[in-house]
Amino acid sequence: MKIPTKEEMKTLFRNRKSHSLRYQVKEKNKVAPRGNSSFGGATFLFEERRDFMITKPKGCHDIYGIEAKKWKYIDRLIDEVCTRYGYQPIRTPIFESSELFHRGVGESSDIVTKETYDFIDRGDRKMTLRPEGTAGVVRSYLENKMYGDATQPVKLYYNGTMYRYERPQSGRDRELTQFGVEVLGTDDPMIDAEVISIAVNIYRLVGLKGIKVNINSLGDQESRNQYRKALVEYFTPHIDEMCEDCKVRLEKNPLRILDCKVDCDTEIMKNAPIILDYLNESSKERFEQVKKYLGLLDIDYEVNPKIVRGLDYYDHTVFEVEAMVEGFGSQNVLGAGGRYNHLVETLGGPSTPGMGFAMGLGRLLLALEKEEIKLPIEEGIDAFVMYVSDTEKDYAVTLVQELRMNGFQVETEYTGRSLKAQFKQADRLKSKFLLLLNDEDLKNNEIKIKNNQTKEETLVEIDYVMYYLEEMLEQVEVDDGSCNQEDGCCCHSDEIDDRKI
Ligand SMILES: [Zn+2]
Repeated sequence: MKIPTKEEMKTLFRNRKSHSLRYQVKEKNKVAPRGNSSFGGATFLFEERRDFMITKPKGCHDIYGIEAKKWKYIDRLIDEVCTRYGYQPIRTPIFESSELFHRGVGESSDIVTKETYDFIDRGDRKMTLRPEGTAGVVRSYLENKMYGDATQPVKLYYNGTMYRYERPQSGRDRELTQFGVEVLGTDDPMIDAEVISIAVNIYRLVGLKGIKVNINSLGDQESRNQYRKALVEYFTPHIDEMCEDCKVRLEKNPLRILDCKVDCDTEIMKNAPIILDYLNESSKERFEQVKKYLGLLDIDYEVNPKIVRGLDYYDHTVFEVEAMVEGFGSQNVLGAGGRYNHLVETLGGPSTPGMGFAMGLGRLLLALEKEEIKLPIEEGIDAFVMYVSDTEKDYAVTLVQELRMNGFQVETEYTGRSLKAQFKQADRLKSKFLLLLNDEDLKNNEIKIKNNQTKEETLVEIDYVMYYLEEMLEQVEVDDGSCNQEDGCCCHSDEIDDRKI
């Protein structure tokens, strides 16, 4: 599956629609009333009502304008990349029964103990707005018995909003968007490397340069039990010097102590035993395999034994992708994930290995901003259709429709502006061509087309308007200056030259 290119759209429509445009003059030279006298009153009313305005909830964002286009661009890139890797899209509910997250994500994780956005619905059911994507996907995998599908493993990806009840003063978002993938039904280390490579390739394709991949292995349960023992032995004599949370963690899940943001810089923490020293032979061998495949995929990484991840369900491979951009602060993890070979069982399913990751798209866009990377977002439209009289307007309505159906991006006048003001509007919309409708020309079956860059004007026979526009646009689009990067982005990297999205 692939998003049709502009070219393909044109042929698509062309095959279905007749190409000829007919012109009928019904009333001669009737001039439309113009001006916008009603605007003053509307503004006044709006000012009056400002006091009653409803604002968005704390920690949420309105995304519009060029920002919204950036999000759309990333969404398309994600669809394209995941499709190439053979991942199928999945959409799960934004809220689920609270129990799913408590059992799935784990009682001892911060996400569940402090941050879930819980509510009781009108039927007295405990519900939670999803704080992450994996639990819902695994629930769906089980409920829909995807483990019985003939095509194993099941490779899925999601892209949607997640919710966390952060304290408002923390400045962190309550609504965030995450993209993630999950692979269920194989324990092959090759998949660990593939999943990491998807994350890395998304960052590469948007042009991000300063990223670092940290990997670690938490081993199998046997290894982790050995390690847990060692951690308890090590931290118990020091626990009074550590934060309150760590005291609880020591009893519930000592691995989580290593994630502590309060005690992270202490000597005690720095000298803590590392998991890699406690891996049994098979876990060690598995980790070597993952590293081998990462090497084959040409992915630079660093083994960082400090990475344990904040969720209960991981084993073996865990990884984080860090932004190495100045001004990003301490919260510099762009995306992270790992293997979860026991989550499906925890949620009541058959023993099924899994591997996945999630990345925050808001953080990705922030990293792009910090690196001053401009996404190749096409701004501007193909043509602006201008008119003055009512008969010209009637013709404009059909012409605009016909052009749009044939794949052109076309705008026209909606507010009765003067011709002069329409020129300005066309400039604001960055229109490449102007179609100046004029009753006299129309009677002669002609339309005046102006190249808005060169200001060159041509009278074109109505039947040839589309051919003419198409040809002229091709010339303009050879270099539209929409991307200022030399390489690394979607339009200039050799590696991804054919990957237009
Ligand atoms: Zn602590």
